[in-house]
Amino acid sequence: MPTTDPLSTNTARNILTGLRAIMATRGNAQIKLNKVVNTIAKAVSSEVCSIYLRRDGVLELFATRGLNAEAVHVTKLAMGEGLTGYIAKNVETLNLDEAASHPDFQYRPETGEEKFHSFAGVPIIRNQQAIGVLCAQHVEPRRYSEVEIEAFQTAAMVLSELITSAELVDDNLAEETASLDNGANRLSGLQLVKGKASGHAVFHQPRVKIEHTVAEDTEAERHRVYSAFDKMRDQIDQMTSQAEFGVGGEHEEVLETYKMFAYDEGWSRRINEAIDSGLTAEAAIERVQQHTRMRMRQIDDPLLAERMHDLEDLANRLLRIVSGQMGTAAKMGLRQDTILIARNLGPAELLEYDRRRLKGVVLEEGSLTAHVTIIARAMGIPILGQVKNIRQVVREDDHLLLNVDENVVFVRPGPSVEEAFDAQLELSQKKRAAYSELRDKEAITKDGVRIMVNINAGLRDDLALLNLTGADGIGLFRTEFQFLVAATMPGRAGQTRFYRDVLDAAGEKPVIFRTIDIGGDKPLPYFQTSDSREDNPAMGWRAIRIGLERDALMKVQARALIEAAAGRKLNVMFPMVAEPWEFDQAKAVFESQRAYLCGQKKRLPSQIRYGAMLEVPALAECLDLLANRLDFLSIGTNDLTQFLFAADRSNPKLAERFDWMSPAILRFLSRASENAARFEIPLGVCGEMGGRPLDALALLGLGIRNLSITPASVGPIKAMVRSLDLGQAKREIAAILKEAPDEPRLRLEQWANQHNVDLD
Ligand code: PEP
Ligand code: MG
Repeated sequence: MPTTDPLSTNTARNILTGLRAIMATRGNAQIKLNKVVNTIAKAVSSEVCSIYLRRDGVLELFATRGLNAEAVHVTKLAMGEGLTGYIAKNVETLNLDEAASHPDFQYRPETGEEKFHSFAGVPIIRNQQAIGVLCAQHVEPRRYSEVEIEAFQTAAMVLSELITSAELVDDNLAEETASLDNGANRLSGLQLVKGKASGHAVFHQPRVKIEHTVAEDTEAERHRVYSAFDKMRDQIDQMTSQAEFGVGGEHEEVLETYKMFAYDEGWSRRINEAIDSGLTAEAAIERVQQHTRMRMRQIDDPLLAERMHDLEDLANRLLRIVSGQMGTAAKMGLRQDTILIARNLGPAELLEYDRRRLKGVVLEEGSLTAHVTIIARAMGIPILGQVKNIRQVVREDDHLLLNVDENVVFVRPGPSVEEAFDAQLELSQKKRAAYSELRDKEAITKDGVRIMVNINAGLRDDLALLNLTGADGIGLFRTEFQFLVAATMPGRAGQTRFYRDVLDAAGEKPVIFRTIDIGGDKPLPYFQTSDSREDNPAMGWRAIRIGLERDALMKVQARALIEAAAGRKLNVMFPMVAEPWEFDQAKAVFESQRAYLCGQKKRLPSQIRYGAMLEVPALAECLDLLANRLDFLSIGTNDLTQFLFAADRSNPKLAERFDWMSPAILRFLSRASENAARFEIPLGVCGEMGGRPLDALALLGLGIRNLSITPASVGPIKAMVRSLDLGQAKREIAAILKEAPDEPRLRLEQWANQHNVDLD
């Protein structure tokens, strides 16, 4: 990392002392700006110093020393026009001994600048956008020293504060840049949750807004930055020592570099020097970062660009620690049309957001069956995953058009893109209207087979969707969602009330309550699920494994469910059952609670049916042993796939590797379906596979008659079922199983198209 000449500190300190004095004096902003240009010009011995500010979408000359005074408030440049416009548009510093040699050079005769050869300019930045430009010019061709450039950058930071507090620039720059900036981007990614949304970018971990740049007490600022460094280094140490990263491999190298940056003495020294010059800790970190950004940009090396990414991450982390702005955007006032930008999210983090304001999510990582994806699907929030560099390309408040149906997000779109997007949106709304017409129609195939189409639910808001979609019932109620949204462990009375509300809302329609499936990628912050960190949490201490060991948790839930279902039917399902004894023990917990409540003369459910999820492959080998004990079985294709392929469902690198239509899955499901029929165990599917029309078609062809899916899929699945001849589909699936074609998905899709099956 670059080191600094102590002179830099002095030059910057001189400028800062001057600026501080100017800011403290009385007088209007224009007078102050006039003084500022004089002070800076003197400090760096430059013949010209000028300030351009953005007003009404253009850069206007606000103050100058050295150019013609008549040009002030007369000379105006568009963003991107001339060297000044170039700096503002690209938020970049220029330092040229011969200004005319730059391709963007232009000169304005009214300023009288033709005699000046050298030119240096730095952007005046607010919220990562240029609100103006500070520049210096000189008759002699000279390149400004690094010391001087750093001093300009420091001055520009302080000016940014002065300018915004004096309200000299347009308040809402975001909209403006969107229309001015023709740097619109079309980024593609992986479809995680279908849908479209138009909105504005909000970072899950917002960038810190620097309110004050000039320090009152330099020692105090130094202390703040010291302890922030300590905290940050602790965090990085913890992160790098986490067992989940394993030993060896590419990631280790990356983490080591990250750690090396965190401990870099050059970096901390430069921040300290910036503090010495009179900046606050926040401003010092940002100033050094701006300078590093500029240096890195001059080096055209992709590897270095990657490293810059790490450095930005670290600087932002340090800023958040020092400013105490540690919360996520969920904790702050969220705008009405939020499209959330994050590297990745956990399910609990997503649930913290107000779903009415959250219109979409774009992730740098993400995978199809991670719980965060499932929750977003349940919430009806489109997610585009695996969008590389989204956090680099997008700025807070940027206008975004998210079209996950086509795997793209448009950043700062132009009018023609918007027009096309609106037309597509209208089309989707028409489709949705057509689906809502299916609400009261049954899912019956063309050859008369009734398919049960249930929804997966877990949140109070989901209950309304039961009637809205016209589903047959709730085939999977994920009770752990209630635990995930709570700040503390939900008590028995609260659980009872909630389950009763669910049953009330469902009325005559059946509900299957799954006992809590915590652990894996659904840790509860207030409940230590394991004494030590697990290397493979998805295969670790989770779901029924926790339930049986910490049986107080299960007892409380059993009692709450039984009491809530007084006088009604209760369906209970256990997750992650691998062997029959686990099912027996879990059922015994419920039965003992039933006996207890019976002894208490409490009203009991009219019937309790016990089922298991088939998501650990081992259970499929034991269906004969469970023949007379199991009231129903539901295949959880999300976990089942992860265990069959030994592929972590939340690992973004594996997101597209395995297909639900591949022979291993189809054969497995086919055998499970045959065995369930042979042992007379009612069978359904409640994983995400069932919510995709083509995959659901395959399931029906394999003998499945009961699906539980995400509510948004009820319309498309009903439409598919009603356009299907099941007899023909079964024959096609049998042929695919037998022939194992290279591309089974393509083959089934072609067949469906030939037979006019509605696939959305
Ligand atoms: C599954 O694993 O397929 C399932 C439905 O359960 P969950 O996604 O909640 O683990
Ligand atoms: Mg599961």
